[in-house]
Amino acid sequence: MYLVLLGPPGAGKGTQAKRLAQSLGLPHISTGDILRQNVKDNTDLGKQAKGIMEKGLLVGDDLVAKMLDERFNNPDIKKGFILDGYPRTLSQAKTLDEILSHKNISVDLVIYLNTSDAVIITRLTGRLVCSKCGANFHVLNMPPKLKGACDSCAGVLYQRSDDNEGTVRKRLEVYKNEVASLIEYYNLAKKLHSLNADLDAEIVLDQIIALSAKV
Ligand code: AMP
Repeated sequence: MYLVLLGPPGAGKGTQAKRLAQSLGLPHISTGDILRQNVKDNTDLGKQAKGIMEKGLLVGDDLVAKMLDERFNNPDIKKGFILDGYPRTLSQAKTLDEILSHKNISVDLVIYLNTSDAVIITRLTGRLVCSKCGANFHVLNMPPKLKGACDSCAGVLYQRSDDNEGTVRKRLEVYKNEVASLIEYYNLAKKLHSLNADLDAEIVLDQIIALSAKV
């Protein structure tokens, strides 16, 4: 099943995608994660993306499309994927359809994780990420058992450089400018399901699993 998770930064796309990937046995593909890895490895792409990401703006369509096309060459997507962070614009949605059509596949289901601004700001400014396995924690809502260390793999926890309030607000603004046309696109294609992602992550996960079972 080819599943796309849509929603503002902080909607829980990454958290849901990781859990879904485990329960459905599909790869989790996050454009943000791939970009951050490129920044860490100081690749050409990483060098071009770093400043843009720190400002909360979108990395150029061509760069991201090329990166994704390469990722889709991995045979692990034969049975499906959980796509997180792409598409973010109508043009990216069309590019995604085009890239996939060359591989004779198409998006089956799009889940829109609808989230209020207040919840987003609280979630993101308190988010901690494991540098080793990518697991997410929260300073207040989901603190790690041991301060600064991941519960699952003991990796060091860090705060993403774009998870400060100023950049979060910019990312939200960028997101809101683009989301309406994306929603319309997937609504017309009868692929969109909207969920209230202010609710507890477990409840949202059960709802996504129920929807994906119907595909
Ligand atoms: P995320 O981890 O999805 O919140 O993405 C972090 C940052 O990576 C974003 O604020 C953008 O700068 C960049 N990024 C991730 N996905 C995309 C995309 N589909 N198009 C453009 N930029 C992206």
